[in-house]
This record gives sequence, C-alpha cells and structure tokens, in this order.
Amino acid sequence: MIIDTLICARWVIPVEPEVKALDHHAVAVDNGRIVELLPVEDARAKYQAREIHELDSHAVLPGFVNVHTHAAMTLFRGLSDDLPLMEWLNHHIWPAEMKWVSPRFVTDGSALAAVEMIRGGTTCFGDMYFFPNQTAEVAAEAGLRAVIGLIVIDFPSPWAQDAAEYLSKGLEVHDRWKHHPLIRTAFAPHSPYTVSENALRRINTYAEELDIPIHMHLHEVEIEIEQSMEQHGKRPMQRLEELGMLSERLIAVHMTQLEQGEIALAAKYRINVAHCPESNLKLASGFCPVQELLNSDVNVALGTDGAASNNRRSAARGHWDWKRRSARSCPARRPTSSPLTSMPPRPSPSTTRFRRSSIPPAARR
Ligand SMILES: [Zn+2]
Repeated sequence: MIIDTLICARWVIPVEPEVKALDHHAVAVDNGRIVELLPVEDARAKYQAREIHELDSHAVLPGFVNVHTHAAMTLFRGLSDDLPLMEWLNHHIWPAEMKWVSPRFVTDGSALAAVEMIRGGTTCFGDMYFFPNQTAEVAAEAGLRAVIGLIVIDFPSPWAQDAAEYLSKGLEVHDRWKHHPLIRTAFAPHSPYTVSENALRRINTYAEELDIPIHMHLHEVEIEIEQSMEQHGKRPMQRLEELGMLSERLIAVHMTQLEQGEIALAAKYRINVAHCPESNLKLASGFCPVQELLNSDVNVALGTDGAASNNRRSAARGHWDWKRRSARSCPARRPTSSPLTSMPPRPSPSTTRFRRSSIPPAARR
C-alpha cells in the first residue's frame, strides 16, 4: 500500500491507552492521519512510503502541551532573578514591560519561544501577554497550536490603557483568529488582584457568550491571599465563586495556596489547574498540592510560565512524572467539554513534518 510517510523509530511511546515504549516501531501516516502503528519490519513489508524517516536512536511520542506561558518574555530571561513575586513584578517586570514591550518585542520574543518549545517537544501552548496578535502570528507561522490569551489588567501598558481598552482590543483579536485552524483564544485577566470586579464580570459574560476559556493566575502567593482578606474580607477563590467565575471554563494558574475547602471547590466546579512547578520554585511562591487535587479528580496540567520566572520553557522536564495526568490536558485525548478541549486541533503531518506531535488520536486507539 502506498502512503505518504513512514516514521521508523527506535521507540514509539503512544502514551495512551498506556505509557509503554514500543521497541522498533513505525508510525504510518497518510492524508494527514496516522493509519497504523506497527513493528518496523512489518511496516516495511506492508507500506511503500513516499517519505521515510529513519530515527534509529529516537523516541517518538505525542507533543507536549504547555498550558501556561508568556512567550514573548523570552527576552526577559534572567531579568531580576531570585526575588519574591510582588517585588519582582512591581519593581522589575512591570517597569521593564512599560519601557520595552512593543509589537516587535512580542514578535521576536515569541519567535524565540516558538523555537525553544519546538525543540523541547511542545506543540501546543496557552499564552498570556500584550500584543497577542503578534504571538498568534508567530505560532501560526511556526505550525504550533496556541490558545492566545486576551490579556486584561487594570494598569496601562503599551498594548492598552485600561480594562475597557484591553477588552475591546481582545475582542478584535478573537474575531481575527476565530476561524484559524491552529489558533484559539481565551480571556486572560491577569489575576484577581490586578483586575477589578467590574471587568471580571464583563469577562465572565463575554467568555460565556463566545464560549472560550478564562486563563488567570490564581492563589499564586501568600501575600495575594492576605491582601484579598484585607481588601475584601475574602480569599480570592471565594470572590471568584461569588462572581460566578469558578467553572470548567477556568484555567487557574499556580494555585499554591489552597485550603482543603478550596480543593473541594476546585473539584465541585471542575476548574482546571495549570501547575507551574519551576516558576513556583524560582519565585518561592509555594507548592501546589497536586496530589490532593488529582485525588479529588481535578484536572491538572503543566505549564512553564514565562522565561523570566523559569529561565527555560521546556514542558518536558518532569513530564514523565506526570505522563498520564498531564496527558489529560491534551484536547485530542480528552473529549469532554472542558475549556482545554477548545484548543485547536492538531495540525496535519504535512505541516508538522517531523514534530513528534503529529501523532493524531487514531494511532493511539
Ligand atoms: Zn504567569
């Protein structure tokens, strides 16, 4: 049988239905779909491929999903290391962003991030940053799937002056990309402490109307909780519950400060948690109670955060400790109504060629 592509690898790791390394296996691809996964010898006898890739010392596996990053921050890598979050944001990152961020900055930073992600095996990412059109353009050109965050923050930046302008510009970004095969959008209010309740209500309404996720830093550090208690008499999650924002639509990033009742809330509302262990360690933010969340059947996925709070953007690091759980965050393998399923479909092998993500679900059946 004549097919488009045969990938002959030392190992093929399909991840689902189980994480198992198949020795000397081949992936047969035709018309953008995996048609069979079989031993290399059998594949050579059965298929005549127009293109054959010999990967004698490689493992082929589905692409990683990095659910939380700020791609353009690659250009801030190493800026102000070893500081706690609020000092790092207030005195270093936000001033640097006011000074340097521009469309060109975001294009260049995102392009560097795209290279780094592809080299690390990441093929889909969730982003939150200024000038989101630029990041979307870079992702589309690189053949990466992306959920582009429509950032909202109450502070002025080179992208917008106030929440109303962030929202209206974000809606324009959504309209521009809504039919693109690789790009999806999500509202990305920075956090409960940087976006007013009025803006959060509007975001929640728009997210329901457009049926897109809400991607937000939440319960990242202790002082965030303390300030919320001082200003509102409530913890941030309680505020979001009262605003109607706890739902399957929410991708809550970090979640290092959780009481037992909040883990139960996360499960009750089926919110999704983006766990960013390296960022949490670098900023000494705390530890996300991942095992307890998983025990409560909360969907937990891995993110790197921006390069400035991680210094690398490899979703692979630590991935194997997470193999089955983080695989749940991959929309192609999780046919539910979770917001993460709104990630764009996997690109066909013709656009990804050798990216390991080009294994569509057919191969895993
Ligand atoms: Zn972040």
